[in-house]
Amino acid sequence: MANTAHTEHSTEHSTGHSTGHSWDEECDVLVVGSGGGALTGAYGTAARGLDTLVVEKTGHFGGTTAYAGAGLWLPGNQAQARGGVEDSAELGRAYFRAVVGDATEHALQDAYLDHAAATVAFLEDSPHVRFEYRPFPDYFAAPGRFDLGRAVFPVDLPAPGAPHALVDAVRPPAWAERLGLPAPEGPLTDGRALIARLLLALDSTGNGRTRLRTALTRLITEDGTVVGAEAEHDGRTLRIRARRGVLLAAGGFEANAELRRAWQRLPGADWTMGAPGANTGDAISAAAGAGAAVGQLDESWWCPSLRFPDGSAAFTLGLHGGIFVDGSGRRFANESLPYDRMGRRMLAAKAGTSHDNPVWWVFDGRFGDELPGITVVPADRAAFTEAGLWRTADTLAGLAEQIGVDAEALSGTVQTFNGHAEHGVDADFQRGEDPYDRFFGQGEGTNPCLVPIEKGPFHAVQIVLGDLGTKGGVRTDADARVLREDGTAIPGLYAAGNTAASVSGPCYPGPGVPIGSAMVFAHLAAAHMAG
Ligand code: FAD
Repeated sequence: MANTAHTEHSTEHSTGHSTGHSWDEECDVLVVGSGGGALTGAYGTAARGLDTLVVEKTGHFGGTTAYAGAGLWLPGNQAQARGGVEDSAELGRAYFRAVVGDATEHALQDAYLDHAAATVAFLEDSPHVRFEYRPFPDYFAAPGRFDLGRAVFPVDLPAPGAPHALVDAVRPPAWAERLGLPAPEGPLTDGRALIARLLLALDSTGNGRTRLRTALTRLITEDGTVVGAEAEHDGRTLRIRARRGVLLAAGGFEANAELRRAWQRLPGADWTMGAPGANTGDAISAAAGAGAAVGQLDESWWCPSLRFPDGSAAFTLGLHGGIFVDGSGRRFANESLPYDRMGRRMLAAKAGTSHDNPVWWVFDGRFGDELPGITVVPADRAAFTEAGLWRTADTLAGLAEQIGVDAEALSGTVQTFNGHAEHGVDADFQRGEDPYDRFFGQGEGTNPCLVPIEKGPFHAVQIVLGDLGTKGGVRTDADARVLREDGTAIPGLYAAGNTAASVSGPCYPGPGVPIGSAMVFAHLAAAHMAG
């Protein structure tokens, strides 16, 4: 079947009647969103013979998943085994329990861990989907941890030789979108590879249809059962009947400033990594309108982020130089912490959480014009300097004056840190003692994470609290069914990914939990809908 047969352009509007409603379109399963969870669910129902319709609000498939590295935390799967990693659901459970504990229901945690391997096996049954192990450490020192990590990643996908309606519509990488550039030529990698592979798998079933620029606005219920949804497409309201169910996998509310102020008490939505305007909580609001209970709304997958001149911010990780100081000129955390853990330290210290309390990343001249860390969107030093977001001085005292912190405090902080670097021990925040820290360390000496700050010119770059998406949403059970306040399931309604309250609660256990858990719960939803 030609892939073009499945895009929005060819969709016919059948008019059907069911239970007193008139319908513009019918399907067995309606999937809302097109990230990793959504497309895993869509493939799951389509592969089982159910007529599946995917609606995506934007003009691109993939959401934030397309931006991601797409590490997938799925303990005990066959791709890990191929890579020589001996993992299991039990080891994963030991670790997950140790770090998440009772913050979320054990039944939900078990559903994730017990079906992770099966999700990978089911997907790899499609010739279009293939994963491989790559090292990236778990984020906590706890039993069952893998110091070099256990995540698997989608194998790069060679670009199709000819125009391809589905693959060409995969969202470009974050850096390309932010810099106004087209998607790069060549193989699709990381999250883009995952999305393209899942689209190809869906298409190959012959039971999947996709519609871009089609936004869910409301769920349609009858006697408490979800029987369909309304969606806006091209200025028209479509009523879509879903005979088996609706899977909501439309991201969180990270791009909705009003909801972030209400639910997270943050100033707005400018610093999220989510695709602009995409994830505005529509599915969470629609589900709440249909009686869904919600939870964990104050939670996000946090990360320190480089503030950009246009007001946005970009995910920053893997520091190999410099320290973070708050408005007092002092360090407040181990700068090599995994990003969500650093984000939580920033929240606790009220550092970088608003325009009034910036964090400064201070480093010395040894890195030239480069930042000593990974920023997913590259920074242009000249533009940052002009915007006052990158400041430089020949002396530390001069730098302190430029960033408005007490000069003695800053020089004391740097002196103490340089002493730690000399001895290879960070007596204040234990930087460099954890395998995660050392994974990114590039310094010399016994502790590669402690690089002294001693050679002018000295630099300070502004860091704020960003996120990779919110992680609070509708409450779900072990089959990804959406729950009411009284704990009963709403028939016909399922949720996965950041639309649902996360199985990991207030922590980010390891690389690939956001997308990995989204995929497992979507896989479970698909199995439940297929009956
Ligand atoms: P998304 O992937 O954002 O998909 C939601 C989709 O729903 C979007 O396309 C959106 O347009 C659509 N939508 C929204 N509203 C509607 C509506 N009303 N109707 C129809 N469609 C709608 N996580 C990992 O697990 N591993 C990683 O390696 C990783 N790396 C990351 C790297 C970066 C740079 C970033 C930014 C994030 C990373 N993350 C990673 C986090 C992860 O990408 C997200 O948390 C996750 O992809 C969210 O998945 P989702 O399915 O909930 O939402």
